[in-house]
Amino acid sequence: MILRGTGEVMAMDEPRRKPSIVKVAEYVASVGEGGRFTKLDLFANVPDVAQADRRMRDLRPMGWKIDNYKVNSDLKPDEYLLVEIGTRIDQGEPVPKTVRKNITGPKRRRIMERDGHACQVCGVHAGAEYWDEAGRNAVLSIGHIIPVSDGGNNDDENLRAECQRCNDESRNNTKRPPAPGEVLIQVTALKSRDKKKRLYAWMAAGRRTVDDVDDAFIQWSRLSRMDRLNVMAKLGSQVIKTDGS
Ligand SMILES: [Zn+2]
Repeated sequence: MILRGTGEVMAMDEPRRKPSIVKVAEYVASVGEGGRFTKLDLFANVPDVAQADRRMRDLRPMGWKIDNYKVNSDLKPDEYLLVEIGTRIDQGEPVPKTVRKNITGPKRRRIMERDGHACQVCGVHAGAEYWDEAGRNAVLSIGHIIPVSDGGNNDDENLRAECQRCNDESRNNTKRPPAPGEVLIQVTALKSRDKKKRLYAWMAAGRRTVDDVDDAFIQWSRLSRMDRLNVMAKLGSQVIKTDGS
C-alpha cells in the first residue's frame, strides 16, 4: 500500500464527476431529433469519454432511437441519425429499472457461482438469516459495481452478487460515506498480515473474492444441522488450542 497519511487519502475524495453516459446523452440530445452526426462528431464533443460509441449504444435500452447505416440506407457508415430521445438522463431522469435487470440466466448463474452465492457487500449467504436482523433471510440478486447510470456495463467484471438489503441501501444511499481517514485507521488496525493480505486482494479485485475460508464456509453451510454442529465443534477445539491470530 502506498497510502502515506490521511492528507493523501483525503485527496482521493474528489467531487463526483459527471458520468460518461450522461455526457454522451447530453451531446446526442443537442443534435435534436431528426439530426445527423458522425462518429467523429461524437468523439470530438465528448473528448474525455473512452469508447463514446459504446456508451451511446447503452442509451438504446433507455428508449433512445439512434439509427446507423445498417438500419437506414440513407446514412453513410460512421453516420448516425437521432430518431428519438429516450430517458433524459442528461436532465437528471433516473435510469429505468428494466435496464438494470438486463442480465441473462447463464450469466446470472456464472456470477453467483464465482461469488460463492454470497453478497459481495456484507458477505451474507443466499437464504441465510442476517446476523444483525433476526427473522430476515437474504435474497441475492446481481448488482452493478459501477451503476448503469454512471456508465457501468453488464460485463462480468462490473457485476457482483448483492443481497436485496445492500442493493436497496446503495440505491437510496442517503447515508454519509465514512471519512477516508477513519477507513484508513480501520484498515491499518487489522493486526495479522493474513487479514491485510486478504483485504488487499479484495480491494485489488474490486469485490470480495472467494478464498479458501469462504469456500470452506460455503461447503459447511450445505451440511445438515447436526453435521454443521459437529464440524463446528471440531474447529472450535482447534481454534481454542492454536489461537494466535
Ligand atoms: Zn448484503
